[in-house]
Amino acid sequence: MSVRKIVTLPEPVLKRKAHTVTKFDKNLQALIDDMIETMRAAPGVGLAAPQIGLSERIIVIEYLENEENEEDEDKEDAPKKVWAVLNPEIIKRSEETLTGVEGCLSIPNLVGEVERHAAVQVKGLNRHGKPMKLKAKGWLARIFQHEIDHLNGVLFTERATHVWRPSDEIEPEQEV
Ligand code: ZN
Repeated sequence: MSVRKIVTLPEPVLKRKAHTVTKFDKNLQALIDDMIETMRAAPGVGLAAPQIGLSERIIVIEYLENEENEEDEDKEDAPKKVWAVLNPEIIKRSEETLTGVEGCLSIPNLVGEVERHAAVQVKGLNRHGKPMKLKAKGWLARIFQHEIDHLNGVLFTERATHVWRPSDEIEPEQEV
């Protein structure tokens, strides 16, 4: 495994619609492992393939599964879950939305307030090409929406109501 270089604006691949994954070979497995390692090294909670310069519909996310459970006092010790989803698609969106502060590894030194669906249902393929479906809410739902946007060439700055340099005000909770 190796850490790949994260590309930043104005790299054109970030604005492109990424290609559907059709080959589930050894190279893909190695690429997914590299993406997970790159996300951890950044550090970030999510990464989409265009962020390492590859126009492929692949996202990886690592997040506390029970982050939304406020009774859980030991967040630091809670297990993290890693998702790798190929060709992900949002198939259901809650009407309820939430506004939160986002950052992006591909847009250094800028954060913004973005309104996202509070819950989403995502379908796609796992790393072996098997169909999968998942439900996410809160921050995890936000991360999925942010990463899937990357596959369509959409950056959070295009959705943000306002953006600013993080040193001025609030820091984003995580970078994706
Ligand atoms: Zn991002």
